[in-house]
Amino acid sequence: MKNPNCPRCDSQNVSKSGIIKDKQRYKCKDCNYNFTVDKLGKGISAYYVIKALQLYIEGVSFREIERLLGVSHVSVMNWVKKYQIKMPKNTEYHPTYKILNHKELAEFYANRENLKGAGMIVTELGDKFMLIKWERLKH
Ligand SMILES: [Zn+2]
Repeated sequence: MKNPNCPRCDSQNVSKSGIIKDKQRYKCKDCNYNFTVDKLGKGISAYYVIKALQLYIEGVSFREIERLLGVSHVSVMNWVKKYQIKMPKNTEYHPTYKILNHKELAEFYANRENLKGAGMIVTELGDKFMLIKWERLKH
């Protein structure tokens, strides 16, 4: 079986370092981070990669992504490089975003005015939701 990538820095330079509570433990040789496979699960890490790249394309800064998703901004930069993600040039619209729980999201949608005149997407963020809205810049 192939060793998983480090969840912290996405390095493949990872070695096995014993079993803890029936789980294989790994150590990252680049950043010295210890982790178990279970915690990582391939699905979960791919999920966060996609989410992080989504946010990046929306114009969210690396530091903000780190704060929102709890993944290091260095990882996000690595993913951007690895998947050769290019942010579209965007001068006319700028994204604003807020984090809402389910109730707040329902309330937001209940008000038609909120849905007018702007593009938006909602993306799941752990147990919350993130609403990204594009507004035309006023010149
Ligand atoms: Zn690492």
